[in-house]
Amino acid sequence: MTFDYDLFVLGAGSGGLAASKRAASYGAKVAIAEQDLVGGTCVIRGCVPKKLMVYASHFSHFYQDAVGYGWSPVEATFDWSKLVQAVDGEVRRLSRLHISFLEKNNVELFHGQARLVDDHTVAVDDRTFTAEKILIAVGGEATKPQIPGIEHAITSREVFLLPLQPKRLAVVGGGYIGTEFAGVFNGLGTEVFQVVRRGLILRGFDEDLREEVQTGMVKKGVNVLSDTTIEKIEKVPEGVRLVLKGAKDNSLVVDTVLYATGRSPNLEGLGLETAGVETAKGAIVVNEWSQTSQPHIFALGDCTDKVNLTPVAVAEGRAFADTQFGNKPHHISYENIATAVFSQPEACTVGMTEIAANAQYGEDGVKVYRTRFRPMIYALPNVDEKILMKLVVHKETDRVLGAQMVGKDAAEIIQCVAIAVTMGATKKDFDATMALHPTSAEEFVTLP
Ligand code: NDP
Repeated sequence: MTFDYDLFVLGAGSGGLAASKRAASYGAKVAIAEQDLVGGTCVIRGCVPKKLMVYASHFSHFYQDAVGYGWSPVEATFDWSKLVQAVDGEVRRLSRLHISFLEKNNVELFHGQARLVDDHTVAVDDRTFTAEKILIAVGGEATKPQIPGIEHAITSREVFLLPLQPKRLAVVGGGYIGTEFAGVFNGLGTEVFQVVRRGLILRGFDEDLREEVQTGMVKKGVNVLSDTTIEKIEKVPEGVRLVLKGAKDNSLVVDTVLYATGRSPNLEGLGLETAGVETAKGAIVVNEWSQTSQPHIFALGDCTDKVNLTPVAVAEGRAFADTQFGNKPHHISYENIATAVFSQPEACTVGMTEIAANAQYGEDGVKVYRTRFRPMIYALPNVDEKILMKLVVHKETDRVLGAQMVGKDAAEIIQCVAIAVTMGATKKDFDATMALHPTSAEEFVTLP
């Protein structure tokens, strides 16, 4: 049987782009379909525009801190619409760049909504194509709980293009997105209320890290409403009124309410049943080779709901292409994946948390090294912000099982620590590394 393509990819996000280019580099005839801008969540309404907005929000502190270094105070004003326009311009530039990469790699791009017609046929709007292998990389979408008035709430899909900067914003959720956007808008001068249904944000992260980030955010001015849920949202002339349960006050009026309560795979209308692709808990079921229940159909990235991070989708995509088209079979490891929350203060982690290590090796089997200090940059402006660093070490082997950091440049520093952790470095290896002075990072190699 002959097919139109060796590989047809549904979704031109991080995973789909990586897989299609790598497969084409091995000589495969590849097509990719995308209904939105090329680039996916990360480029269009995720990591990239978010990080740009995080940078934008830092400037208010830079200006204040500069005074401690002898600069005269700056009367700076901020224009939200200029930021939105600049960020949108960058997103579109990157999207065009990704299209040019596809062209250079001879990957054919189809704009339109793709679905499976049968296990070897893909329809893009009203055109159909056959393919020997199919890869589903359609990503995920923000979800909102079904409470009365939820239609008045926005998600991370709309936040980047808000026409006006909210004066008062409620952010619901204490995960990555909620915590990052609470920091962004607070830094830009919005009055922010982060509504969290537990005592602490960032469930699943190291306990000291959670505490440090939350305390740091509150110090910077974010109103964290812990142990609070929203029962109802009402439109009122001043904006929206949130009916709260658990908070001191039982209602809160804000201009905008942003829900960041999780994301789920984008599987609606994909035709998975018709093609015999199994799902479970709303996600496509795959094995370690990204293979679905239909052996020649594969899926990766957020639509499989394994580890929903861009670099993971990219690595899965490349491993899939190497295996299926490059005669270099391998699959990725999900251990020691470094992850950062671009909150303010920033938080980053790799490997095991203290709790996870204790659960695996017992408290007596684990040694935790911890330090907390004010980085040098904050001395002259007298900023009360600390850095927290932790190493979790296996006593028997001296191996560093995990590292956590909160504070300035945490993500940049942990990325390099992650190499050592992935290589199985011991605490002695850290200690034998000459310190680079004066830096904050040197504390990781001088922990007593
Ligand atoms: P998360 O799963 O990280 O966090 C969701 C938050 O919403 C949690 O605090 C959760 O509380 C809370 N929540 C869930 N349901 C409700 C509800 N019904 N009412 C009130 N609160 C609720 O999701 P995000 O949307 O923040 O992010 C989605 C994913 O995107 C992340 O998990 C991550 O994989 C990825 N991402 C990664 C980023 C990065 O790498 N920097 C940045 C942004 C996103 P509880 O803890 O109690 O369940």
